[in-house]
Amino acid sequence: MAGRILLITDGAAAVAYGPALLQRLRDDRYTVRVAPTGYEGASALAFVSEAGWSAFSGHPCMAIERLGHDDFAAADAIVLAPVSMAVASVFLRGRALPLLQGAARPVLVAPALLAAQAADDALRRDFMAAAAALPPQSAVLWPHQGEVVRLAAMGEVAASPVETLAEAIHAALDPHPLAGRRVLLTAGPTVEDFDPVRFVSNRSTGKMGVALALAARRAGAQVTLIHGPLSAHLPRVEGVLAVPVRSAAQMHQAVMDRHRGMDLAILCAAVADFRPVEYAMNKIKKADGVGLVMPLERTRDILAELGAIPRNERPYLVGFAAESNDVRDNALGKLWRKHCDMLCCNDIKAPGCGFATDTNQIVLYFADGSTSSLPMLSKMEAATKIVAIAAGRMAAESR
Ligand code: C5P
Repeated sequence: MAGRILLITDGAAAVAYGPALLQRLRDDRYTVRVAPTGYEGASALAFVSEAGWSAFSGHPCMAIERLGHDDFAAADAIVLAPVSMAVASVFLRGRALPLLQGAARPVLVAPALLAAQAADDALRRDFMAAAAALPPQSAVLWPHQGEVVRLAAMGEVAASPVETLAEAIHAALDPHPLAGRRVLLTAGPTVEDFDPVRFVSNRSTGKMGVALALAARRAGAQVTLIHGPLSAHLPRVEGVLAVPVRSAAQMHQAVMDRHRGMDLAILCAAVADFRPVEYAMNKIKKADGVGLVMPLERTRDILAELGAIPRNERPYLVGFAAESNDVRDNALGKLWRKHCDMLCCNDIKAPGCGFATDTNQIVLYFADGSTSSLPMLSKMEAATKIVAIAAGRMAAESR
């Protein structure tokens, strides 16, 4: 069990948001008790019955007006989502405040904003003043542009997506071996254009890199994720700064601009090794019957360049290798040649491993000659293990 959550939910947006949130939290193995707001007006119970909330959560509903100290203390986090600013202000100011402060659990608030409320500065100020009294680790997750729950009858309500909230809950409750650390990540393929419509690239989806970004954030780090065009979905996560790039040269530049001050760098991107020497400003025409011969040149090796920096001036360095033959020898060769501290290697020919799969079986090689084999895991589980192991090694080397 990942943790116990007391979910306070309110308003019309709860109809669309609540079931998806409860499903996601159950998938992530949280136990959730729901306290819907009462029967009047735009309350949660006016839209979904007690029986509905119980069915979605798998537990009996709690009566919001009877929540007491024990209910707050029995939860690991208190989540208000979605909730109107007005209702949240009343709740956080009223009888609940001393109970929340007494329980000292993180409180996460995902406001749901009707268009008129988003522009209401007085309402926002009042809500912010109420939220300022919350225990440490608490957070308000404001919706970003375009993040809306669509309700046919009432129009659009802006609210942070379920996945953004779920990641914030993980970041509040998961162990924090990277607390206060800064992590740099590369992910996905790079794309090397040679005319306005054509390019050279590879089959990387970025799934593993995205999983690593989430895992590092959950572990307490501030994360910078430099990524090529992803086909994997990248959720918006507070504490993960996404820096999109396209080519190997752009990825190289972005890493060189940002690596200073980073504690850990995990370079997971499938960077193109070669790029076309020339770029044609106009689409290259096909001349019937004539092939195209295109000279390619090497790109710069980002991992090797970071590895060449003196050890105490660079982050703890983790590389990735996808190998199809002589896996161990190739992995060790890469580890030494590129001067990494740790190399994560998978055999792309093994079943369940490789680019578009959801699972991975990884062997870790370390600069001190030791190795460690992870079992077949989901990419998220593998990422969590890799981050925890890198954090442990960094701490042991007191970096
Ligand atoms: O492509 P190769 O197998 O050598 O990649 C091994 C590691 O080096 C990976 O971590 C990859 O992200 C990194 N790399 C890089 N820049 C390159 C090529 C590879 O950072 N140009």
